[in-house]
Amino acid sequence: SSVTAESTTDVLIIGAGPAGLMMATWMAKCGIKTRIIDKRGSKIFNGQADGLQCRTLEILDSLGFGTRAWQESNHMLEICLWNPDEQGTIHRSDRIPDTIPGISRFQQVVLHQGRIERWFLDCMSETSGLHVERGVLPTKLSIDESAVEDPDAHPITIHVRHLTEEEATPKQSSTSTNGQAVQDGLFRSNMSADDTAELIKVAELNKKANTEEIIHAKYVLGADGAHSWTRGQIGLKLEGESTDYIWGVLDIVPITNFPDIRMRCAIHSASNGSVMVIPRENKLVRLYIQLTTTEKTAAEGGSKADRSKIDPDVILQSAQRIMAPYTLTYRKLDWWTAYQIGQRVGTQFSAYERVFLAGDAVHTHSPKAGQGMNVSMQDSFNLGWKVASVLKGISSRSILKTYQSERRKIAQDLIEFDHKFSRLFSGRPAKDVMDEAGINMEGFKEAFVKGNMFASGIAVDYGASTIVAQPGDPANEGDGTDVAISDPKLRVISNQVLAPSIEVGKRIPSVKILSQADARPWHLQERLPSNGTWRVLVFAGDITQPQQKERIERIGAAFSDTEAFLTRYTGDKFGSVIEVLAIHNAPRHSVTIFEFPEVFRNFDPVDGYDYEKIFVDDVSYHEGHGEIYKNFGIVPEGCIVILRPDQYVSYVGSIDDVDAVDKFFSGFMLPATGRPVVKQVNGH
Ligand code: FAD
Repeated sequence: SSVTAESTTDVLIIGAGPAGLMMATWMAKCGIKTRIIDKRGSKIFNGQADGLQCRTLEILDSLGFGTRAWQESNHMLEICLWNPDEQGTIHRSDRIPDTIPGISRFQQVVLHQGRIERWFLDCMSETSGLHVERGVLPTKLSIDESAVEDPDAHPITIHVRHLTEEEATPKQSSTSTNGQAVQDGLFRSNMSADDTAELIKVAELNKKANTEEIIHAKYVLGADGAHSWTRGQIGLKLEGESTDYIWGVLDIVPITNFPDIRMRCAIHSASNGSVMVIPRENKLVRLYIQLTTTEKTAAEGGSKADRSKIDPDVILQSAQRIMAPYTLTYRKLDWWTAYQIGQRVGTQFSAYERVFLAGDAVHTHSPKAGQGMNVSMQDSFNLGWKVASVLKGISSRSILKTYQSERRKIAQDLIEFDHKFSRLFSGRPAKDVMDEAGINMEGFKEAFVKGNMFASGIAVDYGASTIVAQPGDPANEGDGTDVAISDPKLRVISNQVLAPSIEVGKRIPSVKILSQADARPWHLQERLPSNGTWRVLVFAGDITQPQQKERIERIGAAFSDTEAFLTRYTGDKFGSVIEVLAIHNAPRHSVTIFEFPEVFRNFDPVDGYDYEKIFVDDVSYHEGHGEIYKNFGIVPEGCIVILRPDQYVSYVGSIDDVDAVDKFFSGFMLPATGRPVVKQVNGH
């Protein structure tokens, strides 16, 4: 074959599923030179994952398309638990809220994955013109180990081959229902043999496709799904359970007399198994059924389940048996699939912090808790801004180690949760207290309620590192894989007592605050768009009190000192890299923006003052009162909070300890002098 092109890029993303698209969107937002390739010729259109957890919605909103998600999706408010009664007939035994009330301004919604991928594609294209290159297959990857610590090097070389349309189009077995051809998900399913090797071979033989390209990249993300070619290339493995379960998934417009079909339901029958009902957009309903367990995976010498025996009728018939005496049938079938899944986690999430893995490439588990797509997107949401920050010369490479220390723990928690949950879900209900093989339904409900906090994504709590100053000595905290702060003089310790609900390591919660300049109510998180910017939030207290006024003046003087972190690390005094925001709780009418030091209103000779940095905890005309000081437990003298570009809390400390803020950024940021000019891509 002939090499037709050789080029360099800062970031190459392999795979354009949810994980790859999230990474690409970050790169677009941060203005990083990026390519994203996928071996498939077209995106997926329907089916596959569908649940968006509330944390994921917060993230999508920070990227500018939360509203689309919220409007287009079906909202799931309640979960109904159905169990057999003494006669063995199913009845509704309980109702619980689908999303725990009060944990987020969003609640869980559902919509098919193809639509969700569409928003990312639109956002990438609108932000920076970035498009997925489809029908492009990587064939070789090598890393120059001697250059991995050199910031200017492109240590990764990847050969890619451009496929013909025919090669890039997965073969679909066509299912026909009511004379309609139906897309099935089997071509993407891991129950079909992986066709990567075959595609490489076909491409070699195909003259038309005989164009090969060499790409030199600084960073690579393998977001190429459960079979991950990238994972194989860097010699990493998944570890975990050897038992695989087979799940049948059916998306239908149901015709039924079951009263809770528009609720999310977990239905346990006495002896016919269980089904999860997920009400969807456009009158669709998804049914999840665990069909069988295979003892061993094919790799371990077990036999692959015979997927030719699974079709929509098999899945429907099991649902009918479980839901009897209620009837269930359909005329419209939108999508169906069967897939085989075990619970596994990658031992490493990167090679040399140069080639990273995210999403299904580093963790696989059952679809029951609707976590796959959410956790996959959150992996690369964690990674994206870090890579961008290193590429821009803002941060040292040390922060990249936190990707694995933060996300591997989440993946392990997820697998553990899924393990428990899917067994409880798929087990047979206990007939009585003596029935030890059966599942105790109270226990199931308890696990469901507990699981809901985990599943929401809100519970994610990152351990101590250079970028998370946990309370206590950071050297002794975290999960044991922490990224040590190399210089003990730079260690910063949070004081959680000053704002107990702004928990260090977790994402900052959100309530309404008002803009001081124009009285408009905003959700705090709306003022924290994902554009790569760090934020220092100064909770200034009641600045009509002389001592609070003095405190804020001192902060203003310290932050605008040309020797201080803002100038050192951002080059300009008021930040594209670090933004300083104030939230005070004096009565709104008693102050103006001019009571605040200039660092909070940034005068520009052309654009005048910045009116979007000072906020007040006061009542709004139309949207109530967020009471942020009360809700977050902020002490009257206020505090300083540092937020990462992904809205996670790095630090909570004394309003008087301006040095700690300086020290915190010194732990990983690089001086702005000599750095290429950083241009901020606007939030939305
Ligand atoms: P993927 O979405 O798998 O994306 C990987 C991308 O990489 C694909 O576009 C693929 O074409 C591309 N790719 C793969 N190999 C290469 C290569 N060598 N070179 C270039 N590109 C490559 N989750 C649920 O919560 N509910 C469900 O009902 C559900 N159903 C599913 C049904 C099926 C058939 C499958 C496969 C998954 C399902 N999942 C479900 C899981 C969910 O879709 C995944 O967790 C989620 O998509 C993971 O995102 P990802 O970006 O990591 O990987």
